[in-house]
Amino acid sequence: MSLSQGRSYLAIPGPSVMPEAVLRAMHRGAPNIYEGELIEMTAGIMTDLKRVAGTSHVATIYIGNGHAAWEAALSNVVGSGDTVLVPATGAFGIGWGEMAAGLGAEVQTLDFGRQSPMDLDQIEAALRADTAHRIKAVLGVHVDTSTSAKSDIAGLRAAMDAAGHPALLMADCIASLGCDRFEMDAWGVDVMVAASQKGLMVPPGLALVFFNDRARAVRAGMHRVSRYWDWQPRTDPALYYQHFCGTAPTHHLYGLRAALDMIFDEGLEHVWARHETLARAIWAAVDAWGQGGPITLNMANPTHRSHAVTSLSIGAPHGTKLRRWTQDEAGLTLGIGLGMSSDDDPKADGFFRFGHMGHVNAHMVLGMLSTVQAGMVACDIPFGPGALDAAAAVIAQG
Ligand SMILES: *Cc1c(COP(=O)(O)O)cnc(C)c1O
Repeated sequence: MSLSQGRSYLAIPGPSVMPEAVLRAMHRGAPNIYEGELIEMTAGIMTDLKRVAGTSHVATIYIGNGHAAWEAALSNVVGSGDTVLVPATGAFGIGWGEMAAGLGAEVQTLDFGRQSPMDLDQIEAALRADTAHRIKAVLGVHVDTSTSAKSDIAGLRAAMDAAGHPALLMADCIASLGCDRFEMDAWGVDVMVAASQKGLMVPPGLALVFFNDRARAVRAGMHRVSRYWDWQPRTDPALYYQHFCGTAPTHHLYGLRAALDMIFDEGLEHVWARHETLARAIWAAVDAWGQGGPITLNMANPTHRSHAVTSLSIGAPHGTKLRRWTQDEAGLTLGIGLGMSSDDDPKADGFFRFGHMGHVNAHMVLGMLSTVQAGMVACDIPFGPGALDAAAAVIAQG
Protein backbone atom coordinates (compact mmCIF):
# COMPACT_ATOMS: atom_id res chain seq x y z
CA MET A 1 0.00 0.00 0.00
CA SER A 2 1.41 3.36 -0.97
CA LEU A 3 1.83 5.74 1.95
CA SER A 4 2.96 8.65 -0.19
CA GLN A 5 0.01 10.99 0.32
CA GLY A 6 0.88 13.94 2.54
CA ARG A 7 3.60 16.56 2.26
CA SER A 8 6.31 15.26 -0.05
CA TYR A 9 10.01 15.90 0.45
CA LEU A 10 12.13 16.59 -2.63
CA ALA A 11 15.51 15.56 -1.19
CA ILE A 12 17.48 16.18 -4.38
CA PRO A 13 20.45 18.55 -4.67
CA GLY A 14 18.52 21.32 -6.36
CA PRO A 15 16.00 22.62 -6.82
CA SER A 16 15.78 22.49 -3.04
CA VAL A 17 12.80 22.73 -0.70
CA MET A 18 11.29 26.21 -0.84
CA PRO A 19 10.14 27.87 2.41
CA GLU A 20 6.51 28.99 2.63
CA ALA A 21 7.78 32.52 3.25
CA VAL A 22 9.56 32.49 -0.11
CA LEU A 23 6.52 31.13 -1.93
CA ARG A 24 4.23 33.65 -0.22
CA ALA A 25 6.55 36.52 -1.12
CA MET A 26 6.35 35.51 -4.78
CA HIS A 27 2.57 35.17 -4.81
CA ARG A 28 1.61 38.65 -6.01
CA GLY A 29 0.88 40.71 -9.08
CA ALA A 30 3.72 42.18 -11.13
CA PRO A 31 5.29 45.24 -9.51
CA ASN A 32 6.22 48.49 -11.23
CA ILE A 33 9.67 47.98 -12.72
CA TYR A 34 10.35 51.72 -13.18
CA GLU A 35 9.94 53.09 -9.67
CA GLY A 36 9.11 52.21 -6.11
CA GLU A 37 9.54 49.17 -3.92
CA LEU A 38 11.30 46.84 -6.38
CA ILE A 39 14.05 49.33 -7.12
CA GLU A 40 14.72 49.96 -3.44
CA MET A 41 14.58 46.28 -2.61
CA THR A 42 17.18 45.41 -5.26
CA ALA A 43 19.87 47.55 -3.66
CA GLY A 44 19.42 45.74 -0.35
CA ILE A 45 19.49 42.35 -2.07
CA MET A 46 22.86 43.14 -3.65
CA THR A 47 24.26 44.16 -0.26
CA ASP A 48 22.94 41.02 1.43
CA LEU A 49 24.14 38.69 -1.34
CA LYS A 50 27.64 40.06 -0.76
CA ARG A 51 27.28 39.31 2.95
CA VAL A 52 26.37 35.70 2.17
CA ALA A 53 29.35 35.45 -0.21
CA GLY A 54 31.77 37.07 2.22
CA THR A 55 32.82 39.82 -0.16
CA SER A 56 32.93 43.60 -0.07
CA HIS A 57 33.26 43.75 -3.87
CA VAL A 58 30.56 43.36 -6.53
CA ALA A 59 27.47 41.18 -6.86
CA THR A 60 25.52 40.80 -10.11
CA ILE A 61 22.32 38.90 -10.92
CA TYR A 62 21.57 37.38 -14.32
CA ILE A 63 18.33 35.71 -15.33
CA GLY A 64 19.52 32.16 -15.77
CA ASN A 65 20.45 28.92 -14.08
CA GLY A 66 23.82 27.66 -12.87
CA HIS A 67 25.07 27.03 -16.39
CA ALA A 68 24.28 30.67 -17.16
CA ALA A 69 26.35 31.73 -14.14
CA TRP A 70 29.25 29.67 -15.49
CA GLU A 71 29.02 31.32 -18.90
CA ALA A 72 28.43 34.81 -17.50
CA ALA A 73 31.53 34.65 -15.33
CA LEU A 74 33.75 33.12 -18.03
CA SER A 75 32.54 35.54 -20.71
CA ASN A 76 33.96 38.49 -18.80
CA VAL A 77 37.48 37.20 -18.27
CA VAL A 78 38.17 34.29 -20.66
CA GLY A 79 38.20 34.69 -24.42
CA SER A 80 38.99 32.64 -27.47
CA GLY A 81 42.55 31.32 -27.30
CA ASP A 82 42.95 31.86 -23.54
CA THR A 83 43.91 28.93 -21.32
CA VAL A 84 42.10 27.82 -18.16
CA LEU A 85 43.09 25.20 -15.61
CA VAL A 86 40.32 22.94 -14.30
CA PRO A 87 41.09 20.82 -11.23
CA ALA A 88 38.03 18.55 -11.44
CA THR A 89 36.51 16.48 -8.61
CA GLY A 90 33.40 15.44 -10.52
CA ALA A 91 31.02 16.14 -13.38
CA PHE A 92 30.49 19.81 -12.55
CA GLY A 93 34.18 20.66 -12.76
CA ILE A 94 34.30 18.93 -16.13
CA GLY A 95 31.13 20.77 -17.13
CA TRP A 96 32.50 24.23 -16.29
CA GLY A 97 35.59 23.37 -18.33
CA GLU A 98 33.37 22.41 -21.28
CA MET A 99 31.66 25.78 -20.96
CA ALA A 100 35.07 27.46 -21.25
CA ALA A 101 35.91 25.30 -24.28
CA GLY A 102 32.66 26.51 -25.85
CA LEU A 103 33.97 30.06 -25.59
CA GLY A 104 37.10 29.04 -27.47
CA ALA A 105 39.37 28.59 -24.46
CA GLU A 106 42.03 25.95 -24.25
CA VAL A 107 41.14 23.79 -21.26
CA GLN A 108 43.80 22.08 -19.21
CA THR A 109 42.08 19.55 -16.97
CA LEU A 110 43.51 17.86 -13.89
CA ASP A 111 40.93 15.15 -13.30
CA PHE A 112 41.05 13.83 -9.74
CA GLY A 113 38.32 11.27 -10.43
CA ARG A 114 35.03 10.67 -8.66
CA GLN A 115 36.14 9.88 -5.12
CA SER A 116 39.16 12.04 -4.39
CA PRO A 117 39.74 15.62 -3.32
CA MET A 118 41.95 17.96 -5.31
CA ASP A 119 45.67 17.26 -4.95
CA LEU A 120 46.93 20.77 -4.26
CA ASP A 121 50.58 19.80 -4.81
CA GLN A 122 49.74 18.60 -8.30
CA ILE A 123 47.89 21.84 -9.02
CA GLU A 124 50.83 23.89 -7.74
CA ALA A 125 53.18 21.87 -9.97
CA ALA A 126 50.97 22.48 -13.03
CA LEU A 127 51.00 26.20 -12.31
CA ARG A 128 54.79 26.26 -11.80
CA ALA A 129 55.19 24.45 -15.13
CA ASP A 130 53.26 27.27 -16.81
CA THR A 131 56.29 29.57 -16.82
CA ALA A 132 54.81 31.74 -19.58
CA HIS A 133 51.70 32.33 -17.42
CA ARG A 134 49.36 31.31 -20.18
CA ILE A 135 46.79 30.01 -17.68
CA LYS A 136 44.42 32.93 -17.21
CA ALA A 137 42.06 31.40 -14.67
CA VAL A 138 41.75 28.40 -12.38
CA LEU A 139 38.18 27.07 -12.24
CA GLY A 140 37.56 25.44 -8.86
CA VAL A 141 34.25 23.89 -7.89
CA HIS A 142 33.74 24.28 -4.13
CA VAL A 143 31.24 21.43 -3.83
CA ASP A 144 30.94 19.13 -6.82
CA THR A 145 27.32 18.07 -6.62
CA SER A 146 27.86 14.82 -8.52
CA THR A 147 30.45 13.33 -6.15
CA SER A 148 29.67 15.53 -3.10
CA ALA A 149 33.40 16.30 -2.92
CA LYS A 150 34.17 19.56 -1.11
CA SER A 151 37.35 21.31 -2.16
CA ASP A 152 39.68 23.47 -0.11
CA ILE A 153 39.30 26.74 -2.00
CA ALA A 154 41.57 28.68 0.39
CA GLY A 155 44.13 25.91 -0.14
CA LEU A 156 43.75 26.32 -3.89
CA ARG A 157 44.57 30.01 -3.53
CA ALA A 158 47.58 29.12 -1.38
CA ALA A 159 48.80 26.72 -4.07
CA MET A 160 48.47 29.46 -6.70
CA ASP A 161 50.35 31.92 -4.49
CA ALA A 162 53.06 29.36 -3.71
CA ALA A 163 53.57 28.91 -7.46
CA GLY A 164 53.68 32.70 -7.86
CA HIS A 165 51.01 32.40 -10.55
CA PRO A 166 48.87 35.44 -11.47
CA ALA A 167 45.81 33.56 -12.78
CA LEU A 168 42.37 34.48 -11.49
CA LEU A 169 40.80 32.10 -8.99
CA MET A 170 37.19 31.40 -9.96
CA ALA A 171 34.97 29.36 -7.64
CA ASP A 172 31.68 27.58 -8.32
CA CYS A 173 29.59 27.79 -5.13
CA ILE A 174 26.30 26.88 -6.79
CA ALA A 175 25.78 23.91 -4.45
CA SER A 176 27.54 25.29 -1.41
CA LEU A 177 26.49 28.92 -0.96
CA GLY A 178 24.32 29.20 2.12
CA CYS A 179 25.21 25.64 3.21
CA ASP A 180 28.98 25.22 3.58
CA ARG A 181 31.23 27.93 4.98
CA PHE A 182 32.57 30.09 2.17
CA GLU A 183 34.44 33.40 2.47
CA MET A 184 35.20 34.90 -0.90
CA ASP A 185 37.52 37.75 0.11
CA ALA A 186 39.27 35.98 2.99
CA TRP A 187 39.95 32.96 0.80
CA GLY A 188 41.33 35.03 -2.07
CA VAL A 189 38.64 34.20 -4.63
CA ASP A 190 38.44 36.64 -7.56
CA VAL A 191 35.20 35.45 -9.18
CA MET A 192 32.45 33.36 -7.61
CA VAL A 193 29.32 31.94 -9.19
CA ALA A 194 26.13 30.77 -7.51
CA ALA A 195 22.46 30.25 -8.33
CA SER A 196 19.13 30.72 -6.59
CA GLN A 197 17.76 27.19 -6.41
CA LYS A 198 20.02 25.43 -3.93
CA GLY A 199 21.14 26.85 -0.58
CA LEU A 200 19.32 30.10 -1.35
CA MET A 201 15.93 28.31 -1.39
CA VAL A 202 14.44 30.23 -4.37
CA PRO A 203 13.22 28.65 -7.65
CA PRO A 204 15.78 28.21 -10.43
CA GLY A 205 16.13 31.37 -12.48
CA LEU A 206 18.75 33.62 -10.88
CA ALA A 207 22.42 33.23 -11.75
CA LEU A 208 24.75 35.10 -9.41
CA VAL A 209 28.22 36.33 -10.28
CA PHE A 210 30.51 38.02 -7.74
CA PHE A 211 33.85 39.57 -8.70
CA ASN A 212 36.63 41.70 -7.29
CA ASP A 213 38.94 44.42 -8.64
CA ARG A 214 41.47 41.95 -10.06
CA ALA A 215 38.72 40.36 -12.13
CA ARG A 216 37.43 43.78 -13.15
CA ALA A 217 40.92 44.65 -14.45
CA VAL A 218 41.03 41.43 -16.50
CA ARG A 219 37.58 42.27 -17.91
CA ALA A 220 38.91 45.69 -18.97
CA GLY A 221 41.58 43.96 -21.05
CA MET A 222 39.15 41.77 -23.00
CA HIS A 223 38.82 42.32 -26.76
CA ARG A 224 35.05 42.03 -26.51
CA VAL A 225 32.40 40.74 -24.14
CA SER A 226 28.97 39.92 -25.52
CA ARG A 227 26.47 42.47 -24.35
CA TYR A 228 24.15 40.29 -22.32
CA TRP A 229 26.91 38.66 -20.32
CA ASP A 230 28.93 41.85 -19.80
CA TRP A 231 29.00 42.56 -16.08
CA GLN A 232 30.21 46.14 -16.60
CA PRO A 233 26.83 47.85 -17.29
CA ARG A 234 25.26 45.76 -14.50
CA THR A 235 27.65 47.30 -12.00
CA ASP A 236 26.48 50.74 -10.84
CA PRO A 237 23.87 50.97 -13.63
CA ALA A 238 22.66 54.39 -14.70
CA LEU A 239 19.17 52.98 -15.26
CA TYR A 240 17.51 50.23 -13.23
CA TYR A 241 16.95 47.88 -16.19
CA GLN A 242 20.72 47.69 -16.73
CA HIS A 243 21.03 45.59 -13.55
CA PHE A 244 19.46 42.79 -15.54
CA CYS A 245 20.08 43.89 -19.15
CA GLY A 246 16.30 44.03 -19.49
CA THR A 247 13.24 43.29 -17.41
CA ALA A 248 14.02 42.41 -13.80
CA PRO A 249 13.27 38.88 -12.55
CA THR A 250 10.55 40.49 -10.45
CA HIS A 251 9.11 37.54 -8.54
CA HIS A 252 12.42 35.83 -7.98
CA LEU A 253 13.64 39.03 -6.35
CA TYR A 254 10.74 38.98 -3.90
CA GLY A 255 11.49 35.35 -3.16
CA LEU A 256 15.18 36.03 -2.72
CA ARG A 257 14.45 38.93 -0.36
CA ALA A 258 12.44 36.58 1.85
CA ALA A 259 15.13 33.89 1.70
CA LEU A 260 17.92 36.32 2.63
CA ASP A 261 15.82 37.56 5.55
CA MET A 262 15.50 33.97 6.77
CA ILE A 263 19.25 33.37 6.44
CA PHE A 264 20.15 36.49 8.44
CA ASP A 265 17.39 35.95 11.01
CA GLU A 266 18.93 32.53 11.69
CA GLY A 267 22.48 33.86 11.36
CA LEU A 268 24.88 32.75 8.64
CA GLU A 269 27.17 30.96 11.11
CA HIS A 270 24.15 29.07 12.45
CA VAL A 271 23.02 28.18 8.93
CA TRP A 272 26.44 26.64 8.27
CA ALA A 273 26.44 24.83 11.63
CA ARG A 274 22.94 23.44 11.02
CA HIS A 275 23.99 22.02 7.68
CA GLU A 276 27.07 20.48 9.25
CA THR A 277 25.13 18.74 12.04
CA LEU A 278 22.48 17.44 9.64
CA ALA A 279 25.24 16.13 7.35
CA ARG A 280 26.96 14.39 10.27
CA ALA A 281 23.67 12.69 11.17
CA ILE A 282 23.43 11.36 7.61
CA TRP A 283 27.04 10.15 7.64
CA ALA A 284 26.51 8.39 10.99
CA ALA A 285 23.48 6.54 9.65
CA VAL A 286 25.20 5.49 6.43
CA ASP A 287 28.28 4.31 8.33
CA ALA A 288 26.08 2.03 10.48
CA TRP A 289 24.05 0.71 7.53
CA GLY A 290 27.29 0.02 5.69
CA GLN A 291 28.51 -2.30 8.46
CA GLY A 292 26.03 -4.89 7.25
CA GLY A 293 25.28 -4.02 3.65
CA PRO A 294 26.44 -2.47 0.38
CA ILE A 295 25.67 1.21 1.07
CA THR A 296 28.72 3.51 1.31
CA LEU A 297 29.45 7.22 1.29
CA ASN A 298 31.22 8.27 -1.88
CA MET A 299 33.76 10.49 -0.13
CA ALA A 300 35.74 8.54 2.47
CA ASN A 301 37.23 11.47 4.37
CA PRO A 302 34.72 13.72 6.22
CA THR A 303 36.97 16.77 5.61
CA HIS A 304 36.25 16.46 1.91
CA ARG A 305 32.49 15.92 2.20
CA SER A 306 29.87 18.52 1.39
CA HIS A 307 27.35 19.56 4.05
CA ALA A 308 24.70 20.14 1.36
CA VAL A 309 24.65 16.96 -0.70
CA THR A 310 25.76 13.37 -0.09
CA SER A 311 26.61 10.95 -2.90
CA LEU A 312 26.24 7.27 -2.15
CA SER A 313 26.91 3.94 -3.73
CA ILE A 314 24.66 0.99 -2.94
CA GLY A 315 25.21 -1.32 -5.92
CA ALA A 316 22.99 -1.94 -8.94
CA PRO A 317 20.06 -2.27 -9.16
CA HIS A 318 19.53 -1.22 -5.53
CA GLY A 319 20.00 2.52 -6.04
CA THR A 320 17.27 2.93 -8.64
CA LYS A 321 14.92 0.49 -6.87
CA LEU A 322 15.32 2.31 -3.58
CA ARG A 323 14.62 5.72 -5.16
CA ARG A 324 11.50 4.34 -6.85
CA TRP A 325 10.27 2.86 -3.59
CA THR A 326 10.81 5.99 -1.46
CA GLN A 327 9.08 8.17 -4.03
CA ASP A 328 6.14 5.93 -4.89
CA GLU A 329 5.51 4.44 -1.47
CA ALA A 330 6.59 7.15 0.96
CA GLY A 331 6.60 10.59 -0.75
CA LEU A 332 10.37 11.05 -0.54
CA THR A 333 12.25 11.85 -3.74
CA LEU A 334 15.98 11.11 -3.59
CA GLY A 335 18.58 12.39 -6.04
CA ILE A 336 19.77 10.31 -8.95
CA GLY A 337 23.40 9.29 -9.21
CA LEU A 338 25.02 11.81 -11.52
CA GLY A 339 28.31 11.50 -13.35
CA MET A 340 29.33 8.41 -11.39
CA SER A 341 29.15 6.14 -14.44
CA SER A 342 28.06 6.37 -18.07
CA ASP A 343 24.33 5.94 -18.81
CA ASP A 344 24.78 2.59 -20.55
CA ASP A 345 26.86 1.22 -17.66
CA PRO A 346 24.81 -1.36 -15.70
CA LYS A 347 26.48 0.02 -12.56
CA ALA A 348 24.58 3.31 -13.11
CA ASP A 349 21.64 1.96 -11.08
CA GLY A 350 23.86 1.62 -8.03
CA PHE A 351 24.27 5.32 -7.16
CA PHE A 352 22.01 7.95 -5.60
CA ARG A 353 22.27 11.20 -3.66
CA PHE A 354 20.71 12.91 -0.67
CA GLY A 355 20.07 16.62 -1.15
CA HIS A 356 20.10 18.39 2.24
CA MET A 357 20.56 22.01 1.29
CA GLY A 358 18.71 25.12 2.36
CA HIS A 359 15.34 24.80 4.09
CA VAL A 360 16.06 21.50 5.85
CA ASN A 361 15.82 20.66 9.54
CA ALA A 362 16.38 17.76 11.93
CA HIS A 363 13.01 16.06 11.56
CA MET A 364 13.25 16.17 7.76
CA VAL A 365 16.65 14.48 7.82
CA LEU A 366 15.58 11.91 10.42
CA GLY A 367 12.42 11.24 8.41
CA MET A 368 14.47 10.83 5.24
CA LEU A 369 16.84 8.37 6.90
CA SER A 370 14.01 6.33 8.44
CA THR A 371 12.25 6.21 5.09
CA VAL A 372 15.42 5.03 3.37
CA GLN A 373 15.76 2.27 5.96
CA ALA A 374 12.14 1.20 5.34
CA GLY A 375 12.92 1.19 1.63
CA MET A 376 15.94 -1.03 2.14
CA VAL A 377 13.78 -3.49 4.07
CA ALA A 378 11.11 -3.41 1.36
CA CYS A 379 13.66 -3.81 -1.45
CA ASP A 380 15.58 -6.62 0.31
CA ILE A 381 18.77 -4.59 0.54
CA PRO A 382 20.87 -5.70 3.50
CA PHE A 383 22.11 -3.12 6.02
CA GLY A 384 23.75 -2.93 9.41
CA PRO A 385 21.85 -2.09 12.65
CA GLY A 386 21.82 1.07 14.72
CA ALA A 387 21.76 3.67 11.93
CA LEU A 388 18.72 5.60 13.10
CA ASP A 389 19.98 5.56 16.69
CA ALA A 390 23.33 6.90 15.49
CA ALA A 391 21.68 9.70 13.51
CA ALA A 392 19.39 10.57 16.43
CA ALA A 393 22.41 10.76 18.74
CA VAL A 394 24.10 13.29 16.44
CA ILE A 395 20.91 15.38 16.31
CA ALA A 396 20.46 15.16 20.09
CA GLN A 397 23.97 16.48 20.67
CA GLY A 398 23.17 19.39 18.33
C1 LIG B 1 23.55 22.65 -9.87
C2 LIG B 1 24.95 22.96 -10.16
C3 LIG B 1 25.37 23.51 -11.37
C4 LIG B 1 24.44 23.72 -12.52
O1 LIG B 1 23.33 24.48 -12.23
P1 LIG B 1 22.08 24.46 -13.22
O2 LIG B 1 21.11 25.38 -12.58
O3 LIG B 1 21.60 23.04 -13.28
O4 LIG B 1 22.53 24.96 -14.54
C5 LIG B 1 26.69 23.82 -11.53
N1 LIG B 1 27.58 23.61 -10.55
C6 LIG B 1 27.23 23.05 -9.37
C7 LIG B 1 28.28 22.83 -8.33
C8 LIG B 1 25.92 22.71 -9.14
O5 LIG B 1 25.55 22.16 -7.98
